[in-house]
Amino acid sequence: MSDPGDGNAPGPAPADAEAIRTRLAAVESRIETACVASGRDRAAVRLLLATKTVDPQRVRVAIEAGANLVAENRVQEVRPKYEALTDLNYERHFIGHLQSNKINALVPYVSCIQSLDRLSLARKLQAKLEREGETREVLLQVNTSGEDSKFGLEPEALVDFATEVSRMDSLRIRGLMTIGLFTEDVELARPSLRRLRELGDQVRQLNLDGVVMDELSMGMSGDLEVAIEEGATIVRVGSAVFGGRQP
Ligand SMILES: *Cc1c(COP(=O)(O)O)cnc(C)c1O
Repeated sequence: MSDPGDGNAPGPAPADAEAIRTRLAAVESRIETACVASGRDRAAVRLLLATKTVDPQRVRVAIEAGANLVAENRVQEVRPKYEALTDLNYERHFIGHLQSNKINALVPYVSCIQSLDRLSLARKLQAKLEREGETREVLLQVNTSGEDSKFGLEPEALVDFATEVSRMDSLRIRGLMTIGLFTEDVELARPSLRRLRELGDQVRQLNLDGVVMDELSMGMSGDLEVAIEEGATIVRVGSAVFGGRQP
């Protein structure tokens, strides 16, 4: 757990580290500007770093520069990065498609699963957590863009799903997550982001026991401003901080 070797692994080249810090500052300033423009409190929006394929020592640079919320997409990247960064204090979420057979390899390392999108998965998570006397926060992932390549619940299924999951007392529903329409023209993404906020309002009005609907995870490198205007409380940013991903 506290193998000091991890903390001493060679870091990125100084120029790369500097570029990460510069881009992180630029993203921070975009968030700040978007909050001002939409009359929102800067503290109401959190920056989540989406770190798929990013080497842990590069993630370290961003955390040491102030980032405090990090998420992976692929279960196999979760534990090695956790182990390489145990000396740092930051929050870990999961934002990828989660297969039921990977639950055990994931759950110990994250506080929130943002991609809960089906009942079979919810039941398996609940069973495992209940056995262990633990809880996890979850966001319900909704497909608001209508693209069929994406995971996530159909919006029409959300109310029933939220109601079912609210009865699973090891899962604490905190809000919703979506991957907005992927497009060059960010304005085209706006309806899919706005839809998530409307769905959040709808679920909140149900007053389900134990359900807190105060998180909207939406917006990425290209459309975080629009997402903030539409009410995002978590924007998930990868490439704008770490540069293009390795294929
Ligand atoms: C990769 C990823 C992001 C970040 O995307 P960028 O365009 O690199 O900012 C956000 N959310 C999810 C679910 C992702 O997989």
